[in-house]
Amino acid sequence: MKEFQTIIGLEVHVELLTNSKMFCCCSTEFGKQPNTQVCPVCLGLPGTLPVANEKAIELGICASIALNCQVNEECIFVRKSYFYPDLPKNFQISQYMDPIGINGYLCINNRNIGIHRVHMEEDTGKLVHNEQSGTWSGIDFNRSGIPLMEIVTEPDITSPDEAERFLQELKKLISYTGVSDCNMEEGSLRCDANISVKLKEDVKLGTKVEVKNMNSFRSVRRALAYEQERITDLLKNEKPIIQETRLWNETLQITEPMRTKEEAHDYRYFPEPDLLPFRIDINTINRIKSEIGELPQLREKRFQNQYNLSEYDSSILTSKKAIADYFEQTIKHYAKPKQVANWIQTEILALLKETRCTIDKCKIDPRALAKIVEMVDNNIINATVGKQIIRDVFITGKEPEALVKERNLTQISDTKEIEEIIEKVLADNAQAVNDYKSGRTQALGFLVGQVMRKSRAKVNPSIVKEILQKKLN
Ligand SMILES: [Zn+2]
Repeated sequence: MKEFQTIIGLEVHVELLTNSKMFCCCSTEFGKQPNTQVCPVCLGLPGTLPVANEKAIELGICASIALNCQVNEECIFVRKSYFYPDLPKNFQISQYMDPIGINGYLCINNRNIGIHRVHMEEDTGKLVHNEQSGTWSGIDFNRSGIPLMEIVTEPDITSPDEAERFLQELKKLISYTGVSDCNMEEGSLRCDANISVKLKEDVKLGTKVEVKNMNSFRSVRRALAYEQERITDLLKNEKPIIQETRLWNETLQITEPMRTKEEAHDYRYFPEPDLLPFRIDINTINRIKSEIGELPQLREKRFQNQYNLSEYDSSILTSKKAIADYFEQTIKHYAKPKQVANWIQTEILALLKETRCTIDKCKIDPRALAKIVEMVDNNIINATVGKQIIRDVFITGKEPEALVKERNLTQISDTKEIEEIIEKVLADNAQAVNDYKSGRTQALGFLVGQVMRKSRAKVNPSIVKEILQKKLN
């Protein structure tokens, strides 16, 4: 039986998280009306001059360091010439010979996948096709000139599953460091893949096929699996494999030929005459290195070992550097990692999502959160009140203890007082009491709810349940 070997390389484009574009001051905000975020520079009008975005270059350095690359101290921008309607200058400013980062790696499942290069460039405009009539296409230049980084792996990936896993790890690393939001739906992370299959004993590499148009990590895996099978079948039947670019058809779950690829494109790369070569000094590299600190894979492992958190909890908490920092600051004030992790994962992350806020800008500081969790653990307030207080502090930034006092929310621990409330609830809800006595046990939940309501959630529901059961039985 013949044994085959699959070789995959990925090219990942990531839009950088800057406020302005790569070579002009236009905003990079997503979702605005077409062609409202443009200027003569990003429209490619004659006579304009590009100015490189310092923040974008710093993010490029940051990604290169995080990917264990060697950062080139001298970088140069080049013109990559080609014609396409979404490229008004007829060339893209990119990097060729001296990219920002080279020779790195990313470790997945204890195996290093080589990073061939990381380079900086600008995004193109976006073609919008009218799919109903099919009679016109428009071009939106809002995307034109958005800072872009291309990460090219070595052909080290050996299966479609491994490609998916690599992308998940890469996304994690890039979002952790704040280089990009990696939002695939908004196109801030895009991936093309090269795949070849050969007989295992063959020394010569197989013919490469490029696959494009995949909108999720899952479709990358599926498209590659489809290609792997297609090429293997061709090999088995001794049919020729065409070197070409194929598009993934998400609806049909197949790849289709787009164009046959020439050996090499003639992009006529030459140094961009409007931008000087730039030097990255060692101090900048060291500063960025210290700002990144511990990388997320290591931090995730450390969270599991040091704080005894599950793999899942650690992974969520290390999804962003700011969240991991926030967690570690909170447990400095209250050393119960598991409890703090739970409250961050449920309440804080939900509030951030709801308000579209980031953790470093929200008004609940680690000390305040620690205080609230501690009050719940010590039965000063119950969990329901805890949630309310988190929400209030999140919005107002008030002191949690002051809020509890001000609103008189301290948990009622005096059993006599609780019993009084329960008596009243039982008297007011004869129907539910009868239901419970005739075997409909779900009535108990209703009664507990009534007591919680009457006490303004200031009693401990499990104590209420216990007393209620005693009284009803
Ligand atoms: Zn512009």
